[in-house]
Amino acid sequence: MPALMFPAQLMQSRRYCQPRLVLLGDAAHCCHPVGGQGLNMGIRDAAALAQVLQTAQQQRQHLGSLMVLKRYDRWRRYENWVMLAFTDILNRSFSNHWLPMVTAACLC
Ligand SMILES: Cc1cc2nc3c(=O)[nH]c(=O)nc-3n(C[C@H](O)[C@H](O)[C@H](O)COP(=O)(O)OP(=O)(O)OC[C@H]3O[C@@H](n4cnc5c(N)ncnc54)[C@H](O)[C@@H]3O)c2cc1C
Repeated sequence: MPALMFPAQLMQSRRYCQPRLVLLGDAAHCCHPVGGQGLNMGIRDAAALAQVLQTAQQQRQHLGSLMVLKRYDRWRRYENWVMLAFTDILNRSFSNHWLPMVTAACLC
């Protein structure tokens, strides 16, 4: 299978789950590495999913049901948007050629 490429820029899946299926880590979202947050977000996704599944198991709910997996989707998609937006602003600021912005970036 040929190697595929995609740009390292702000991307997020519209949905993180389907019945018996979840996306997490870079499969669910992607950002420019300037903020160094991609791996951190993936680890938080995994921790949130584990917590959601543990709670569902204690309540004897079906682990693969959309009702259960949507809890993970709602939790992580919102939090990831905040971090993705922050990283995107950083990326746009540092790759900007407008002189005041270049000066501000140099001072950071
Ligand atoms: C230059 C750079 C610097 C970065 N610096 C940081 C940083 O400082 N801090 C930070 O938190 N994040 C950083 N990141 C982001 C971080 O590397 C990623 O967010 C993280 O590696 C994503 O982990 P993942 O397991 O979700 O995906 P990946 O690391 O991409 O792992 C997916 C794995 O699945 C395998 N795979 C793909 N398709 C298939 C298939 N069909 N069958 C079987 N296997 C398959 C791939 O080979 C790969 O091994 C950086 C990224 C880049 C590019």
